[in-house]
Amino acid sequence: MALRNPIMGGAVMRAGGAILAALALFSPTWASSRDTGTLAIALTPADGDGDGIVDRMDVAITIADPPDAFTMKTLANNVPTAASDMTAPVFTRADAPVAARVETRQEDASNAVRLWHVANGQQAPLSIAYRVTLDPDRAALALPQYELRTGTEGFSGAALSFLILPDDDIARDVTIAWHLGAMEPSARALSSLGIGDVRSARPLRPVEIGSTYVMAGTPKMVDNGAFFAAWQGDMAFAGEGLMEWAGQLHRYYGEFFRHAPDSFGVFGRTNPLNPGSGIGLTDSFAFTFDESSTQADLKGLLAHEMLHAFVRSLGDTMDAAHGLSSAWFGEGLAVYYQRALPWRAGLIDDAAFLDDLNATAGRYYTNALIATPNDAIADGFWRDTRVRVLPYDRGSLYFAKLDADIRAASANARNLDGLVRAMLAERRAGGRWIRPFSNVCCAPIWARRASTDFATC
Ligand SMILES: [Zn+2]
Repeated sequence: MALRNPIMGGAVMRAGGAILAALALFSPTWASSRDTGTLAIALTPADGDGDGIVDRMDVAITIADPPDAFTMKTLANNVPTAASDMTAPVFTRADAPVAARVETRQEDASNAVRLWHVANGQQAPLSIAYRVTLDPDRAALALPQYELRTGTEGFSGAALSFLILPDDDIARDVTIAWHLGAMEPSARALSSLGIGDVRSARPLRPVEIGSTYVMAGTPKMVDNGAFFAAWQGDMAFAGEGLMEWAGQLHRYYGEFFRHAPDSFGVFGRTNPLNPGSGIGLTDSFAFTFDESSTQADLKGLLAHEMLHAFVRSLGDTMDAAHGLSSAWFGEGLAVYYQRALPWRAGLIDDAAFLDDLNATAGRYYTNALIATPNDAIADGFWRDTRVRVLPYDRGSLYFAKLDADIRAASANARNLDGLVRAMLAERRAGGRWIRPFSNVCCAPIWARRASTDFATC
């Protein structure tokens, strides 16, 4: 994942994230069958005590090509998941129960998983069923907004906080079916894959499925087809205008990076403890706000999180364990472009661009821990706000210098934009786009490589 950006001394943090695709049911791209397995998810929210607030959800998953192990996060970047508040999953094959051996594994200081090993039988579909509890009184967290959170406008959360997934790296076609009978008649449901019951536009790996978001209830919504947004809670201004702005920026990003997902979703919810945070997700992102959030702040946040969804990090995801040592890359690029691209698109003015740049430079060059080396950042990230901001601030200024170095080395024929586009194109083509990079902050090496390895950018 990618954490974030405590805003000037606050406890605020933003989590950046991973990947994913979306598309409405009956998409023409779905017409031809693909040589991949399928993973079907059915979600049935319920209101056990009849007070109008969803307090539990039945989850049913069927995998056509199951592996012999399944996994679920128990701790995701310090966020406790529904793993501590769910029934034991029942595994069945052809309606017969399948025994599972349970194991827990600590991935790093901030991430842990539970594993279920089931008897082998890859040829037959396997189903998993369990119930998660949603606590309406769950205390707010100043952490990435993964956890399922429920209230009067419905519930929302990241799939990785409640979904058991195959413990493999195989991409599968994904379907999500919602059963909203227990919710009020006007309730709607959506996910990073789209609005209502959906099929994924492309096969998704488990890490990409975990990095989707779900929301159901009566959120405010903007739906422009390829771009949609939904948010729970009230902003201090008309949220619809902000989301229309985000939709324009989304179109610009697609043109700039020369590729855009078939659909893109934005999910917002309030968090009084941690407004102005966000997580980048599969073809989507999620953010938090409260009544004090200004439009200018949220525009910067939306531009930042949307950038994560387009670029991600050195690898495919920013949500992996041990990802903090490469946060300088994903967060640095996100901060660099969060002001550059809206400004170039004419979606923010000169003053807003300079405010953002000066906020970064001011915080970095006055940071008492400015000398902290990159390899010490993972260790101090959660312990000290001054360390936590370093990948963002140093990273973005590093990319500004890299851009200048590439321009200087190429007589202004090449620049950082071309380098990033080339990396993304190589990754889309299945190439080893990480190859030219090492996890070392060293501008001269990068500039030299950039001018040779990407001579045609
Ligand atoms: Zn970020």
